[in-house]
Amino acid sequence: METKKKDIRALTKDQLREFFVKEGDKAFRGNQVYEWLWSKGAHTFEDMTNISLETRQMLQDNFVINHIHVDTMQKSKDGTIKNAVRLHDGLIVESVLIPTKSRTTACVSSQVGCSLDCRFCATSRLKRMRNLNPDEIFDQVVAIDRESRLYHDRPLSNIVFMGMGEPLMNYNNVLKAIDKITSDEGLGMSPKRIVVSTSGVPKMIKKMADDDVKFKLAVSLHSAIDEVRTSIMPFNENFPLADLREALEYWYAKTKNRITYEYVVWKDINDKKKDVDALIAFCKFAPSKVNLIEYNPIDDGEFQQANSQAIDMYVSMLEAKNITVTVRRSRGKDIDAACGQLANKS
Ligand code: SAH
Repeated sequence: METKKKDIRALTKDQLREFFVKEGDKAFRGNQVYEWLWSKGAHTFEDMTNISLETRQMLQDNFVINHIHVDTMQKSKDGTIKNAVRLHDGLIVESVLIPTKSRTTACVSSQVGCSLDCRFCATSRLKRMRNLNPDEIFDQVVAIDRESRLYHDRPLSNIVFMGMGEPLMNYNNVLKAIDKITSDEGLGMSPKRIVVSTSGVPKMIKKMADDDVKFKLAVSLHSAIDEVRTSIMPFNENFPLADLREALEYWYAKTKNRITYEYVVWKDINDKKKDVDALIAFCKFAPSKVNLIEYNPIDDGEFQQANSQAIDMYVSMLEAKNITVTVRRSRGKDIDAACGQLANKS
């Protein structure tokens, strides 16, 4: 009977070293293999040319390398690229490359589907199938880095966890992936260039602060009025704004890192002065800035982007209170690669 082989990338470097010692080899062999797996991105054991044939065969007998596979790649006319990424068990997630003049950003997924139920988001229509493993998150980044070099002549510069899923509901794996991405044995990227975006899970925001993480935090706020927020993000019922506020104050006290609030203004939902007043009050709790994002329609028109007067009102009222506000245009809409559109069509 064939026993299921283990994914070799589930092992830490120390575990790999121990494995080789148990096999009667040198611990150092573990370092070599680890380097092949993470720095050099080897997809097969045959690739590991400085490892003896015999050892490669032994690895082959014991392990698999579960690599992601970019099934389809779509290019938008604005340069945005969307990858449909097939996982080893056949499930699919999406990741996006977003080029601007000065940077290339990878938008990566952390879960297959999502357990939250934001009513304006396409991903919420898929039920959560499973969490991604650290290597599956890491591989999405590597794939986008390659595409960035190939199509835009420069390496990837930034990463946002704004693809499918709620990163803080898969916190341990997201953290492990970020460790790999930032370590010299992985991609050596600065954590300051990484943003983790959450719908706001208070307990996990506090945990991140306790873990002294170095990446940036974005919170999908969308409303600072409980009643409104619960109507569009029903889980707010269980994680109300008072708890979120407390967690964010804790985050800032510990990390001294400013928070970004992502915010879409919808017609008849949060486009009135009282909505801006509530946002301004919320912004006082911890140093923060507001990112007004364009709404990307996902279906029947239940949600509509507010008119430009409403956006202008937000901008002028926030600026009058010295709160930094940016208005972000969507990218890659023509290929359903924009915020909240992932999994629309696959
Ligand atoms: N679960 C995480 C990360 C994924 S979503 C989070 O909620 O932050 C990334 C951003 O896109 C979030 O701010 C989300 O609220 C926003 N978003 C979701 N659907 C959208 C849509 N249809 N149009 C515009 N933004 C959307």
